[in-house]
Amino acid sequence: MKRRSTKQIKLGDIGVGSKYPITVQSMTTTKTKDTEKTIEQVYELASNGADIVRVTCNEIEAATSLVEISTRSPVPIIADIHFQYKLALAAIEAGVQGLRLNPGNIRNEKHIKEVAKEALLADIPIRVGVNAGSLDKDIAANYGESTPEALVESAIKEIRYLEEVDFYNIKISVKHSNVPLMIESYRLLSEKIEYPLHLGVTEAGPLPGGLIKSVAGIATLLSEGIGDTIRLSLTTNPIDEAKYGRHLLEYLNLRERKSLDLIACPSCGRAEVDVIKVAKEAQEALEEKGFPIQVAVMGCVVNGPGEAKSADLGIAAGKNRGHLFIKGKVVKVVDEKDMVSSLVTEGELITKEGIEARLAAADKDAAKIAQKDVDALIDIQGDVNDFKTKVKSVVEINSNQDIDS
Ligand code: SF4
Repeated sequence: MKRRSTKQIKLGDIGVGSKYPITVQSMTTTKTKDTEKTIEQVYELASNGADIVRVTCNEIEAATSLVEISTRSPVPIIADIHFQYKLALAAIEAGVQGLRLNPGNIRNEKHIKEVAKEALLADIPIRVGVNAGSLDKDIAANYGESTPEALVESAIKEIRYLEEVDFYNIKISVKHSNVPLMIESYRLLSEKIEYPLHLGVTEAGPLPGGLIKSVAGIATLLSEGIGDTIRLSLTTNPIDEAKYGRHLLEYLNLRERKSLDLIACPSCGRAEVDVIKVAKEAQEALEEKGFPIQVAVMGCVVNGPGEAKSADLGIAAGKNRGHLFIKGKVVKVVDEKDMVSSLVTEGELITKEGIEARLAAADKDAAKIAQKDVDALIDIQGDVNDFKTKVKSVVEINSNQDIDS
C-alpha cells in the first residue's frame, strides 16, 4: 500500500503523516473535570491500542483538569473544542499536546487566528475537524446540503485562516455519517492539500453497524494510501474503539501485530466439532494471554491444516481428536476435549521459543496418526480436494443420462 505523501506533524512523541505509522485515536467519555476517572480511562484506552486520546474541553473546570491529565497521560492528549475559543486558549495553557477545532461552530476569524498564534507558540498541532452534521452555516446554505465539496470548502476556508498567521501544524478531517460521501470527501480533500488526514465516519453508531460503516469507509481510503490517523466513532465503550481501530490496522498489515488474530473456518457439513463454540472458547482463552500470533480453528482435518497453513498455530477436528498444527504441519494429536487447552499451551511455547523450535519439537508419530484420521474421514466423506475425479464422475453421470434419455 503506497501512502499519499503528506507534511509531517508531531503530537508529543507521536508523529502523524506519511513518514510515520498510521495511528489510532479514541475519545474519553468521562467528565473531563473528573481528573482521576479521565486519567483512568486514558490509561485503559492506551493499553487497548489508542496512540492518541482526545478529551472534551467544554468548561473551565475541564481545562483546569487538563493540566494534570496531559502531564500524567501515557499518550498525547488532544483537547476537543466547540463554540468557545477561550477554552482552546485555556487548554493550550494547560499543556495539551494538540487541539481539535470545529470550523462549523468557531467561526470568528479573529478568534481562530488568536488560537493559532498561541498554538504556534506552544508548538502543538490543530486538527481542523469538519463534520457534515455541524457544517459552517454559510457554506451549508451555499451547497444546499452536506456534499463532499461543501465539507472540503469548509476545511480549506479554516486552513487559510491558520496559514495567514503562519500556522502550518495542521491535520484535517472531513467526516460524514454516510460512508460513500465520507469516502468522496476525503478523496477530494487529498487532491487539494498536503496536510495529514484524520479518517473517520462520524456518528457511525452502535455495534455491529457502526463498526461495519467505519471499517468500510476507513479501509477503502487506507487501501488507496489516504489517511494518517484513524478513529472509529462507535456508540459503545470507547475501549472497543481503540481495540477495533488497532485490529483494523494490524489486519491491513499497516501496524505490527501486538494482539491475537484468531481465524476460523465458517464450518460446514464436514465439521467434526461445533466450530463456533470451539472458536469462541479459543478466542476467550487466548485473548486473555495476549499472544501476538495468528491462530486457526478448523472444523475438519481433511481441509483444516492445509487451508490454514499460513497461521502460526492451529487446531483441526477429526474423529474425536484434534490435530494441533504449526504453519500447516501437524505437531501433536490431542483428545477433542483438550483442543482449546492445547492451543493455549502451544501458544505459550511458541511465544517463548519461536516457531522453528516448536516445529523441531513435534511429536514423532503425530504426522502418521493424523494421516490415519484423514484417510478414515476421506473414506467416509470423500476427498473434498479431489476435483478431477469428481468432475469426471459428474460428466459421466450427465452423459449416461443423455444416452438414457
Ligand atoms: S475446514 Fe472442513 S469443516 Fe471447516 S469449512 Fe472447510 S471443509 Fe468445512
